[in-house]
Amino acid sequence: MPLVTHILQVETLWKRMGFDIERFVGYVNEGLLCSICRDVLEDPLQAPCEHAFCTTCIHGWLVHHSNCPEDRQALDASVLHPLYRYMKNDLNRLQLHCKNREHGCDMVCSLESIDRHERECEYGQISCSNAGCPVQVERRNLDSHLALCEYRSRECPNGCGYTVLSTEDTQHNCVAELRTELELLRSEMICRVEEAKHEMESRLDSQRRHMVQKESMLQNEIEELKSQMSRMMSDVRSLLAAERQHRQELEQAELEKRKLPSSKKKYD
Ligand SMILES: [Zn+2]
Ligand SMILES: [Zn+2]
Ligand SMILES: [Zn+2]
Ligand SMILES: [Zn+2]
Ligand SMILES: [Zn+2]
Repeated sequence: MPLVTHILQVETLWKRMGFDIERFVGYVNEGLLCSICRDVLEDPLQAPCEHAFCTTCIHGWLVHHSNCPEDRQALDASVLHPLYRYMKNDLNRLQLHCKNREHGCDMVCSLESIDRHERECEYGQISCSNAGCPVQVERRNLDSHLALCEYRSRECPNGCGYTVLSTEDTQHNCVAELRTELELLRSEMICRVEEAKHEMESRLDSQRRHMVQKESMLQNEIEELKSQMSRMMSDVRSLLAAERQHRQELEQAELEKRKLPSSKKKYD
């Protein structure tokens, strides 16, 4: 693969690396440019041959090469070192425009402090802070967007306890919301009552079965006792009959005994 094509590929891959030279105010020393992306060094590393590159650019290059892209001297990631102090100082002192210049920011400051400015730049694009809102606004316009944002929400002012999105504000109807909730609760309640009823019924069923068993056992015992009783009754009856018989015999004997002396007297 020809070197130029490869450099072009690397340039597309690492487009974001390096600071666009167009943003700088005044002369920028050639030595502060990255030999790979040709922009001003960002997070730089230096090779023993003194050529300097953005960290991302040179690491990307060394994946498929083992030399310096500028002079072809052998190069390995382990020998890369931080930029010489004097070069670092020159780099940090370079003045450049804020990246939001095209949106209206006219801030120019040193490379060393541009990051801090851009993190808070009023012209920087940020996402709306309301959950679900896809809108991106410049930081300085966030407040006016928030006042109109369709994703802003507030607690219902009528005290139903619902949080209402501003887009649903006009459709919000406390009574309807509460009625829906009430319906839900009611059907849940009915379900639970049904469950409790089923459980109670099955428990009663098993108790009933148990009682039926017990009743038939008792019935058997009663039958048994009845037959025992009737046997005893017939025994008693026959004992009584025997007793009566015995008494009659005794009376008979008594009578005969009383008769005897009179007949004896008669015979005397
Ligand atoms: Zn670079
Ligand atoms: Zn070199
Ligand atoms: Zn700015
Ligand atoms: Zn929003
Ligand atoms: Zn409400």
